[in-house]
Amino acid sequence: MIDQAVILCGGMGTRLGALTEATPKPMLEVAGRPFLFHLIQEVARYGVKHIVLLAGRFGEQIVTAFHGRRLFGAQVEVLVEPGPLGTGGALRFAADRLAPQFLLLNGDSWIDADLARFGLGWHKARERDPEVKAQMLLHRVPDTARFGRVTLKADRVVGFEEKGAPLADASGLISAGVYAIDRAILDLIPPHAACSLERDVLPRLVAEGRVVASQAREGAYFVDIGIPETFAQVQVDLVAARTRPAVFFDRDGTLNRDGGYTHRVEDLVWMPQAREAIAHINELGYFVFVVTNQAGIARGYYDENAVTAFHDAMQVSLASVGGHVDAFEWCPHHPEAVIPAYRRDCPRRKPGPGMLLDLMAAWPVDSQRSFLIGNSSADMEAARAAGLRALRYEGGSVVDIAAQLL
Ligand SMILES: [Mg+2]
Repeated sequence: MIDQAVILCGGMGTRLGALTEATPKPMLEVAGRPFLFHLIQEVARYGVKHIVLLAGRFGEQIVTAFHGRRLFGAQVEVLVEPGPLGTGGALRFAADRLAPQFLLLNGDSWIDADLARFGLGWHKARERDPEVKAQMLLHRVPDTARFGRVTLKADRVVGFEEKGAPLADASGLISAGVYAIDRAILDLIPPHAACSLERDVLPRLVAEGRVVASQAREGAYFVDIGIPETFAQVQVDLVAARTRPAVFFDRDGTLNRDGGYTHRVEDLVWMPQAREAIAHINELGYFVFVVTNQAGIARGYYDENAVTAFHDAMQVSLASVGGHVDAFEWCPHHPEAVIPAYRRDCPRRKPGPGMLLDLMAAWPVDSQRSFLIGNSSADMEAARAAGLRALRYEGGSVVDIAAQLL
C-alpha cells in the first residue's frame, strides 16, 4: 500500500481575491475548519501514515496549524518552499522527505474517491509494466473547458488539452488532482528552479507512455475551491457529501481470531471473509471503524506501539483486496491495571459507549443508518448505549452477517 500522501498547498489563490489576501487557499474555512483539515482527515482514512504538506505563500500559517501533529492516525509534516517553485519545483524541494512511491493531491480540490482502491490499481499497473511512473485519477464532467481535457487509450493517458481550448463537445475526462507518483520522476525536474508538474513533467511522461489513469465513480462529488462560486458552494455541500453511515466492528473474535490478548502481527488471522466484508462495506460508501478493548496494555502484556503495529498490519493486508479501515479506536484502560497509568474505570472501555461516541463526534457519521458488529455482550451493550443497532457475530462468514444489515 501507499502510506505517504503529499498535499500541494502553495497555490497563489489569485482568483479568490480578498479571501486569499492574507490566507493560503487550503487554510480557508469550510464548516468551521480549514479546508485542509477536512482533506487531511479524508486522506488519513485510507491508512496513510505520513502526510507532507508542501506550503508556499503564508506557509507559516500552515506550519502553525499542522506541523508535527498526529491527526487521524497520520503524522503531519509541513515544508515551506523558499520561493514560488511551481508544483514540480515544490516536489523537488521536498525530495529527501518523499517515499519511493506516494500519493499527491491538490490542496484546493476535493474528490470523493477510494484511495485504497486507487493504490491497488497503481500496484497492479506497475506489476504489469514497471515503467509506469505516474497514475492520475480522472473525473468525467459535462464541461472540461475550465480544467483541460485528458484523453485515454485503454488505461494509458495519451493526451492533455490546454485549459479553455475550444471543443465541439466539451464533455470528457479531467484530472481530479490526485496522483500516485514514483519518486524517480524527480530526475526530470531541475533543482532550485520553477517547474510545473502538469505542464512540464507529466506531458513528457505521457509522451513516453508511462502514465496510467483510473476513473472516479460516475457522479462522484468533486469540487475545486479556487473560484468564488465553488468556494461558496463547498460551504453548503462538503459536509453533506462527506456524511455517510458507518459499520463499527469489534476486533478480536469478530474480525480476527482471538487467541487471548492477541497482539503480535504474526498472530493476525482473519475470520472467514472478514476482509471481503470490509472491502464490500467500503464499496457501499460506509465508514468502517474498529473499536477494541485492549486491556492487555493495562495488564502489561504489550504496549500501545504493539497495538498500532497490529492495526498497520491489518491495513496492509486489507489493501491487497482494495479494502481499508477508516479509523481504529482502542481502550488501553482497566480498573485493575497492573500499570498505574492505565488504571481507570474508563467510559471508552466497552460496554461503555465512549469509543463509539468519540468516533461519531470526530467523523461525519449518519448514525441512523449505522450499526455495530461484535461477538460479546459488552459490544451489544456499548452499541445500545450509543443508540446504534447491533448484530452479534457467532462465527461463520462475516460477509453473511454484515449482509443482514446492509
Ligand atoms: Mg471480541
